[in-house]
Amino acid sequence: MTAPSDIDHGWAGSRRLLRLLRDLMKAGGSSQERLDRVVDLIAQHIVAEVCSIYAMRSGEVLELFASKGLKPAAVHMTRLKVNEGLVGLIAAQARPVALADAQGHPNFAYRPETGEEVYHSLMGVPIMRSGRVLGVLVVQNRTQRSYDEEEVEALETVAMVLAELLAGDRLLERTAGSGGGESELMPARLTGITLNQGIAIGVAVPHHRGIVISQVVAENPEAERQRLDAAMSEMRDALDAMLARQEVAVAGEHREVLETYRMFADDRGWRRRMHDAVRGGLTAEASVQKVQNETRARMASIKDPYLRARLADLEDLGNRLLHHLLGLDEKRREDLPEDMVLIANDLGPAELLDYDQNRLRAVVLEQGAPTSHVAIVARALQIPMIGRCEGIATQAGEGDPVIVDGESGQVLLRPSASVRSGFQESIANKKRQQAAYRAVRDLPSVTQDGQSVALLINAGLMIDLTHLGDAGAEGIGLYRTEVPFMIRDSFPGVETQADIYRRILEHAGDKPVVFRTLDVGGDKLLPYWRGSHEDNPAMGWRAIRIGLDRPALLRQQLRALLRAAVGQELYVKFPMISSVAEFSAARALLQREMDRETALGGALPKAVRVGTMMEVPALALQLHQLLPLCDFLSLGSNDLLQFLFAADRSNPRLARRYDPLSSAMLTLVRDIARQCEAQSVPFTVCGEMAGDPLEAMALLGCGVRRLSMTPSAVGPVKTMVRSLDVQALGDAINQFLTLPDHSIREPLRSYAIERNIAI
Ligand code: PEP
Ligand code: MG
Repeated sequence: MTAPSDIDHGWAGSRRLLRLLRDLMKAGGSSQERLDRVVDLIAQHIVAEVCSIYAMRSGEVLELFASKGLKPAAVHMTRLKVNEGLVGLIAAQARPVALADAQGHPNFAYRPETGEEVYHSLMGVPIMRSGRVLGVLVVQNRTQRSYDEEEVEALETVAMVLAELLAGDRLLERTAGSGGGESELMPARLTGITLNQGIAIGVAVPHHRGIVISQVVAENPEAERQRLDAAMSEMRDALDAMLARQEVAVAGEHREVLETYRMFADDRGWRRRMHDAVRGGLTAEASVQKVQNETRARMASIKDPYLRARLADLEDLGNRLLHHLLGLDEKRREDLPEDMVLIANDLGPAELLDYDQNRLRAVVLEQGAPTSHVAIVARALQIPMIGRCEGIATQAGEGDPVIVDGESGQVLLRPSASVRSGFQESIANKKRQQAAYRAVRDLPSVTQDGQSVALLINAGLMIDLTHLGDAGAEGIGLYRTEVPFMIRDSFPGVETQADIYRRILEHAGDKPVVFRTLDVGGDKLLPYWRGSHEDNPAMGWRAIRIGLDRPALLRQQLRALLRAAVGQELYVKFPMISSVAEFSAARALLQREMDRETALGGALPKAVRVGTMMEVPALALQLHQLLPLCDFLSLGSNDLLQFLFAADRSNPRLARRYDPLSSAMLTLVRDIARQCEAQSVPFTVCGEMAGDPLEAMALLGCGVRRLSMTPSAVGPVKTMVRSLDVQALGDAINQFLTLPDHSIREPLRSYAIERNIAI
């Protein structure tokens, strides 16, 4: 027994406790006996009246497994849901909690069977392994004790050791446990967001398979430090080799993302934290995992997309380091199934590249965002990917059959045979359809009654341009210049921007590219630009409003565009123009840049055509004054709908409330199309409506003849165009628009089906 006077704090103290724990774990006895001794030992060392271990059952309930200090009757009786009580909160947030007055915390949940009402202070840490919370370790004191940071650190280190004990415990295996068991093997349907389109059928492979840390407590901290350093330098060499690999080496945003990631391998703060953990008595691999646990906990509370991407990079590097330390590198690709669906909490871009691309059918992540680095790489590699799929990491077991439906953002776990064959059929159908779309690729986009319809694509990443040729599109109707800005670390200067635009023009060859100037603000945040808080960012200081208030920024971009397009035709349009005066001011800035280039002796584009987005209803009421001033008009249906109906486009609760095929929207579109036609101003629609065959058909019926859409929509839309008599449709739409109904979707759909129009 250790007397309280022997208690030493800090590294030396935690090292001693770790050694004792290690010996205890090696000793015999049942799991329960060992856990009982563990809580005793920790309580003595931390000088706490209570020490308890709660273990996670079925991924959702925390059960009191062992306690020194709480009433013995409560053990295996007391259960808390994740997020219930302080213990549930620690598990939900995967973060420590230390409170001098625990009972005063709003999450405190009183459980009479435990007798804990006499304990006032509480310190708890999650017990984590491979990104999963396995349980919670808690100490409590009678007095209102303030636990310091070092004590929290020491308890976290102890939790690392316990994680191994719990992971090895048969009681906690996936199929066991009350309330879990059988039900976990039932089919399940989880939803997330589509990060890359596509449907795949395969078997689940958890990302961290194979990473098992058996040695947590260091025998010799100095030797561990050397192992850690050696593994770091091995890892850096391996990363350099990977960056030189052929499929990675080609230019594009994914390459830049990987280079930034490589720089993180040298991050000093990250290394220091791992060295600290080694000094605290952990082995090199346990130290890496401890720092990873902390990083994950930080990630949970960070919303900033840039910081999240950086932390995800660190997670990826940590896993890579573990592979080097545990000598798993060679085994990684072996015995993976031919049709694997990779399941992970989050993935770094390089981690994705580690897997054999020929076996990888799809990826599902608990985290991830459309602009996350891994999503950019997945798009480059054309791997279907779903993100923000809550519960996937805990519910998918290795080898479980999985269907990933990137069309609807759904994941079906352990699907029934009939669901599976339904999807197999739809994959086969898709393949047939794609073959049919390829067949129309080089055919003209002309309606049955001889009207030409220009089909263009929307783009933002270099990789999108590769689809320009396969899609059979006439050009790029919308190039969102903010996208390359969003994935960078800092604001690109004129030359960097000019380089990007030059590459795009080169790729597009003789097909026109319409560049839209920066549309940032709203939901499109630049990681390095901290705007002030706005209550309604979509209607706030964004897009051209920033451009006109910070003209240096817009002028730099215009200068870069002019330089990139020397000797060629340049098409530029401005986002979120709300008044004729804003358009004139933006156009004047462009003229000023052209004059400046000429004065400096620089060459200019062969022709410069200037247009505007039509996204704000007020502008639609000023067409008479606007159209004589602009060379073309692009209607952004996403924003125009949002502002027409005063309905936030990113609020899922409003997603289907107002139909794009509403009489209000279509009447407005028809009116704009008529005015543009009368003034001979080319008019394009470039929001999501343009890429949906039925909605695109309605637009054509309203007089639109130019549509810009996501590349994969060109085939289906062209097929629709070729099956349509647009004159007759126009007459029908004029008729439908006299109805009082909100939407004309149903009559339009029937109209199309009756006439065999390919919607
Ligand atoms: C639109 O608003 O429809 C549009 C094309 O612009 P974005 O989706 O980039 O806002
Ligand atoms: Mg818009």
